[in-house]
Amino acid sequence: MTNKATIEPRDPSSPPAKLSQRWRWASKGMIGFLMQQGVENPDVISLAAGLVDPGSLPVSTTRSAFQAMMADDALARTALQYGTTSGAMRLRKQLVSHLANREGMSPDDPRLGTDRFVLTTGSQQLLSLVAEVLFDPGDICLVASPTYFVFLGVLDGVGARAIPVATDENGMQPAALESELQRLKGVGELDRVKLVYLVSDFENPSGYCLSDDRRQAVLEIARRWSREHRLFVLEDAAYRELRYDGSPQTSLLNMDPDGEHVIHAGTFSKSFSPGLRVGFGVVPADLHQAVCVRKGNEDFGSANFNQHLLATVFEQGLYGPHVESVRDAYRVKRDAMLTAADRYFSDIPGVHWMHPEGGLYVWMSLPEEIATGFDSELFHHTVHETGMMYVPGEICFASGDPNGDDRPTNHMRLSFGVQDPAGIDEAMKRLATSVRAMR
Ligand code: PMP
Repeated sequence: MTNKATIEPRDPSSPPAKLSQRWRWASKGMIGFLMQQGVENPDVISLAAGLVDPGSLPVSTTRSAFQAMMADDALARTALQYGTTSGAMRLRKQLVSHLANREGMSPDDPRLGTDRFVLTTGSQQLLSLVAEVLFDPGDICLVASPTYFVFLGVLDGVGARAIPVATDENGMQPAALESELQRLKGVGELDRVKLVYLVSDFENPSGYCLSDDRRQAVLEIARRWSREHRLFVLEDAAYRELRYDGSPQTSLLNMDPDGEHVIHAGTFSKSFSPGLRVGFGVVPADLHQAVCVRKGNEDFGSANFNQHLLATVFEQGLYGPHVESVRDAYRVKRDAMLTAADRYFSDIPGVHWMHPEGGLYVWMSLPEEIATGFDSELFHHTVHETGMMYVPGEICFASGDPNGDDRPTNHMRLSFGVQDPAGIDEAMKRLATSVRAMR
């Protein structure tokens, strides 16, 4: 992967493009490399892609919402026009009742005021906007270990430092968060700490959920350590609606009594359609203004048409039943992956995997001596010999070391989103063949 500050032109007589420091920071991001691997090896069965199940995409639901919207001349004209930076009020109102219902909050709760919502191009844009408005180069974000690697790329891209906090099956450990803050205070860096980032439901990649008592504890820590400035908690709820068993935990959004600390990021990519690219943030009032000013520079509003289309889906009562069907489809696939893991891996010593209650991923750990990274023998073997692909776990760890040499190298993220149960079974069989070949 290149990380040079210049790019050579096709015509050698023309001088190179001289790129910015921001570009150099951003070019460390792994998502481009991973997508390229998929494109270059079309015959492998990929358990790497974070795409959603093609079979449960809402084709007829979207068609009927589209037809209803376009049959109403005035609405069609509104939808085809520019919208506003913070997004279509019609959808924001729908979101207030949707979230109130989902989170057990009152629709009149000021924390769910429409003025706190910003509609974005996927929740990815919200993550990026928050990073843009909070971080100066060298500022610090505390993250779970492992966590969503694309967000680690976003932090790199603004020159922020991601500091890992010890994490187990119940999510980030509050005691470790507390001692990291103490340490940063001791070295005079407390004023650089702006944010705690949490994928509190079915973490990507690990599938871990932050337990209720830890949610309370993390929030209490964020409030207590907000001294010269507020320490925000970004609750990335991308998978919150994809729970297949067990009961939901209270959201951090609902636990934050005055709505001053939690930024809640939501998306319709996983539960409805990623092609619409509709995500949203529920953001504390002062930060909301900053995010919208920044967004004004980027696009002064995400696709208005898509927001109105989704508002119509909600108005027609089509959203809830669709999400039910999506959950049913993923439950089957999750079970197919766990069954295949039992079938092919249970007799390989030192291999462990998580049983997630939701989300899209199974997190698998190999014996420490088997490396899984892009340059490893195993990755090469799966892509070129057995024909499957996974996401190497090491890219999901923030590192205290500039070269990332302290990151665990023996994990894999396996996605059950795209393949059907037969494809999942075959990919797991191939992976097991490769793992055995390494021993
Ligand atoms: N957060 C997490 C944890 C994710 O896994 C993803 C997508 N893979 C996103 C945010 C962003 O998704 P989108 O922009 O499609 O809403």
